[in-house]
Amino acid sequence: MAFKLTYATMFNPPEELHKGFDAAVLRLKQNLGKEYGMIINGKDVFAEEKLEDRSPVNTDWVLARMQKGTANHAQQAIAAARNAFPAWSRTPWQQRVRIVRKAASIIEQRIFDLGAAMALEVGKNRMESLGDVQETADLMAYSALMMEQNKGFIKPMGKDPLVGYDGTNTSVLRPYGVWLVVSPFNFPFALTGGPAGAALVAGNTVVIKPATDTAWIVRLYAECLRDAGFPDGVVNFVTGPGSSLGQALVDSKDVDGTTFTGSFDVGMRLFRDFAQRNYVRPVILELGGKNPAIVSRHANLADAATGIVRSAFGLQGQKCSAASRVLVEEPVYDALVGRLKDITDKMVIGDPTERTTNLGPVINQSSYNDFKNFNEEINQAGGRFLTGGHVRTGGMYDKGFYCEPTFVTDLPFDHRLWQYEMFLPITTIGRVKNLDKAMEIANSVNYGLTAGFYGSLAETEWFFDRIEAGVTYANRPQGATTGAWPGFQPFGGWKGSGASGKNGGGLYYVQLYMHEQIRTLIKPAALGKTARKAGPKRRAAPGKTSRKIVKKAARKTGRR
Ligand code: NDP
Repeated sequence: MAFKLTYATMFNPPEELHKGFDAAVLRLKQNLGKEYGMIINGKDVFAEEKLEDRSPVNTDWVLARMQKGTANHAQQAIAAARNAFPAWSRTPWQQRVRIVRKAASIIEQRIFDLGAAMALEVGKNRMESLGDVQETADLMAYSALMMEQNKGFIKPMGKDPLVGYDGTNTSVLRPYGVWLVVSPFNFPFALTGGPAGAALVAGNTVVIKPATDTAWIVRLYAECLRDAGFPDGVVNFVTGPGSSLGQALVDSKDVDGTTFTGSFDVGMRLFRDFAQRNYVRPVILELGGKNPAIVSRHANLADAATGIVRSAFGLQGQKCSAASRVLVEEPVYDALVGRLKDITDKMVIGDPTERTTNLGPVINQSSYNDFKNFNEEINQAGGRFLTGGHVRTGGMYDKGFYCEPTFVTDLPFDHRLWQYEMFLPITTIGRVKNLDKAMEIANSVNYGLTAGFYGSLAETEWFFDRIEAGVTYANRPQGATTGAWPGFQPFGGWKGSGASGKNGGGLYYVQLYMHEQIRTLIKPAALGKTARKAGPKRRAAPGKTSRKIVKKAARKTGRR
């Protein structure tokens, strides 16, 4: 079978992937520190103030100089998107599908350079970095495929049983207008490209606002779209602080819909602020998680341990889908904990571009400080560190934000950190008497994003039926709670983890970017099946069949 990169297959990549990635890192390192504009109406736009984008791998490395856009730039981008909307929305859907597919193929062609940039800017290890880029291409291609399989969402509906008339009813899904895409730092490519691809193929124009920590890689994404040939103004890209430029975008009355992926607090605020217009606009929110992995006494403990470690510490625990809580049935608790420790102790922390590295740095100084503070809090509360608990120091570690993969045991279940999304490589492990108790704890949080289970086949149905989460896995060593892929595991959350109830990369996603218009068209029956050739003038002399219908209709209505 040919190799297909997904988050489930990335653990055994072919050698070419490593070679391609290594060469790209060398190329990229020759060329760091360039200035990049925003892209508004197809042009590079520069702000007065700049933001220096430094690598969390080594903060001496300036990766790029980005623009500190203002509220004024937000308005310009929205105006450009608004101007471009009429023509883009009327562009035949087949043409939109073609351009979105072209963008996806450009992304794939550039996967190594983009993956290398991702590793340097986000701190993801090489396979996670390449995965984010490939996922983006696949998300965009999937939205294009859905548009195509549904024939542009133009669908004939039932025919009214009219007498004397020939009526047709058609359901058409049509774009909303200007769509705002606000993305987080941790999957900057996929969580910009997934929503943007769906919005664009549906016929909306977009304004993209990336996280400030990952503005460079999203600029490289915007360049892929630019090079695919979207007309000017269809794709706009602005950079700057969420609190000023981001807020101006959210507050604009000229935005018609938005997709926000990020933290619960910022997302809920956006939801409320976005309601300040004279009618309701669509808001797709993809928010945080506090994802449980439940381990039954019947579990395969080797699979459970492998899957849990991968999901707890992949991308340094900074995944919305990270396994941040582990609930283990008493009889297998000690055995599982032993295995978790054995695997974690072998993990390599370091430069994420290196082939052997498992964990790179966390994203910034603030997350690094949080890591230290949470560990202090855990310590005070009586939690024990099965692994980790410290930042790494000395040598290259002093240049970046390196944290140890940390499993915590014995933290009382009523401690706030069993509920709070830390978004770091810290996972709490708890011992439970039985599976019902595990399920009660698993569901007792505000979130409902992903969840994992390890147990007997008979128990898996019980798990799927009761767990409150949008993405669920059973007996998966490739990742207990992480590793969803478009077309395989569409991704989205319940409860405080998401607002649309439909998962990205799935069957019902692209429809969220369109509203339905029903088109009822009535023609006189003479223009229908029986006398289609007669034309308007000859309606006065209908053929035999239509004359009968007209007479019957006249009797019914009392007219002659
Ligand atoms: P944040 O909520 O801090 O930021 C997300 C985005 O919102 C950034 O682009 C940020 O810009 C912007 N922003 C901040 N304030 C405003 C504002 N007032 N108006 C408009 N935009 C604003 O999240 P993180 O980037 O730290 O990402 C981590 C979070 O994302 C976690 O909670 C994680 O669980 C969640 N997430 C959810 C996913 C899902 O699919 N459910 C997937 C991935 C992550 P700036 O950086 O400039 O502040």
